[in-house]
Amino acid sequence: MTSSSSDPARPSSVAARLEAVRRRIAGAARAGGRPADGIVLTAVTKTQPPAAVDAALAAGQRVFGENRVQEAQTRWSGRRGSVSDLELRLIGPLQTNKASDAVSLFDVIETVDRPRLVEALAAAGLKTGRTVRVLIQVNTGAEPQKAGVPPGEADALVEEARARGLSVEGLMCIPPAGEAPGPHFALLRKIARRNGLEVLSMGMSGDYEMAIRFGATHVRVGSALFGERNPPETPSID
Ligand SMILES: *Cc1c(COP(=O)(O)O)cnc(C)c1O
Repeated sequence: MTSSSSDPARPSSVAARLEAVRRRIAGAARAGGRPADGIVLTAVTKTQPPAAVDAALAAGQRVFGENRVQEAQTRWSGRRGSVSDLELRLIGPLQTNKASDAVSLFDVIETVDRPRLVEALAAAGLKTGRTVRVLIQVNTGAEPQKAGVPPGEADALVEEARARGLSVEGLMCIPPAGEAPGPHFALLRKIARRNGLEVLSMGMSGDYEMAIRFGATHVRVGSALFGERNPPETPSID
């Protein structure tokens, strides 16, 4: 897996994988009677080397997901200035003491899951004068150790975030590992509909086509574009 001929960071490999994933997204969209351009591909670049990131940019990819604030700063603060239409999305857990940094760097924060974080982001928005665009992360499997608001508390958190002036664009979920994701995608869509929310960030490398069938507007794809992450991911503490 480490021979240079199969190096996933090679520009040609990344471009080819992007092309293939985009084609599959378009196919899944068409199968559901939806326009392919209604689905946004978020390329997840966490832990990837600079060459992989630059290859994706060179291939025209503009929307990226990161799960740690500091790592994202290192990877993107320099590239920000040279790519005007870049969109960065935070897809990992956020500590309240990093809310300001997150608001400064990211266009959208997908992982809002508790009132304290809503407060911290609202304060950061006032301080920076920026509109804070967010998704509410729902713990659709109600897993004890997992980030995300419990499904039964999602409506209240959406309301609170709106009341505090955050721009709530939609919902995000990560279904439990080893479970069929379909019911989780369906639950997320149901919660979004009753709250009048358009954006559904759901689906990863293993299940993004299924997520699109369930109404995903944003899919978060990492390893299908860049190969397996190296070094292996450690639990996020951001
Ligand atoms: C890492 C990550 C992804 C991408 O996962 P792949 O299986 O590599 O596509 C998507 N969403 C979140 C929240 C992640 O942390």
